Amino acid sequence: MKALQYRTVGAAPEVVTVPDPEPGPGQVLLKVTAAGVCHSDIAVMSWPAEGFPYALPLTLGHEGVGTVAALGAGVAGVREGEAFAVYGPWGCGACAKCAEGKENYCLRAAELGIHPPGLGAPGAMAEYLLVDDARHLAPLEGLDPVAAVPLTDAGLTPYHAVKRSLPKLLPGSTAVVIGAGGLGHVAIQLLRALTPARVVALDVSDDKLRLAREVGAQEAVRSDERAADAVRELTGGVGAEAVFDFVGAEATVRTAGAVAAVEGDVTIVGIGGGALPVGFGLLPFEVSVSAPYWGSRAELVEVLALARAGAVSVHTETFSLGDAPLAYERLHSGKIGGRAVILP
Ligand code: NAD
Ligand code: ZN
Ligand code: ZN
Repeated sequence: MKALQYRTVGAAPEVVTVPDPEPGPGQVLLKVTAAGVCHSDIAVMSWPAEGFPYALPLTLGHEGVGTVAALGAGVAGVREGEAFAVYGPWGCGACAKCAEGKENYCLRAAELGIHPPGLGAPGAMAEYLLVDDARHLAPLEGLDPVAAVPLTDAGLTPYHAVKRSLPKLLPGSTAVVIGAGGLGHVAIQLLRALTPARVVALDVSDDKLRLAREVGAQEAVRSDERAADAVRELTGGVGAEAVFDFVGAEATVRTAGAVAAVEGDVTIVGIGGGALPVGFGLLPFEVSVSAPYWGSRAELVEVLALARAGAVSVHTETFSLGDAPLAYERLHSGKIGGRAVILP
């Protein structure tokens, strides 16, 4: 089969032919119908060879949707031809976190060498994807594969982040979204669907600020050194009860801290390497800062339900598998509006 692989540290990913995978005991083989392109892959492909955490070559793609092509021995409850979204942050299935469905925080994944597809295990940017266990499949139930596939990360990750701050997003409150890209433009929709908060989006690109308004942000502000003052002004000096940073760079985490309200939440989702110092007097009183990773299995089911209800719709741009390297180039240069989706 054809697959998009990251083969050499520092080189662009390539489309290559690899053996068709066969499902072992307990595994499910999906015929991939859509795979999403995440900015995290660009970060992975910028890491140095020394200490690179995954074996190469690596088939990319940690957002996947497909139909069941074959079942390994012992798999029950799933039938050939059924369509599923893949829950990506695989865990051991048995520890205390996994028991809660929080496999993203599995206590034993590192020790057992368990990796998400596309982030260590062979990913979804291929004609077929091996899913290690049927519990990692969430039924599409009528959702279109292209519309659904970004929900497995660009939907699930902001959903988890927003859910944490729901008690603070009361009528009259403000939520700030920094970075209205793949994750951010879904976050804006989730905030509008789940809370009465006013949503202020920040981005460096006019196109993204336009998209932010189109998907529901009431205010769109250029992300520069004056942004924090602008947001403070919009909130009458109070600041935002919740700030979601989908960039996570030094400059944006500084803005995030500067626009937070007393007792506000700052959630750093972007992996841009910025650090926000916490200490008495450094931030408004009782601000809580957190850096979550992905979301739980239950939350994926909830996000898919929201999409079925019409509350979130991801803006997508599709590419063939052959053009997947181009999709990464376009994402890298900020030219994707919403999420790029590969059709293998
Ligand atoms: P994306 O490229 O689609 O979106 C990033 C957006 O940020 C773009 O709209 C870009 O214009 C904007 N931006 C860049 N610099 C900015 C700045 N200084 N101020 C404001 N906006 C700025 O990326 P994505 O796929 O949505 O991923 C967003 C981030 O989230 C990445 O860092 C990614 O690695 C990370 N991520 C984290 C998790 C997690 O579990 N923590 C999961 C998925 C992605
Ligand atoms: Zn991702
Ligand atoms: Zn576990």
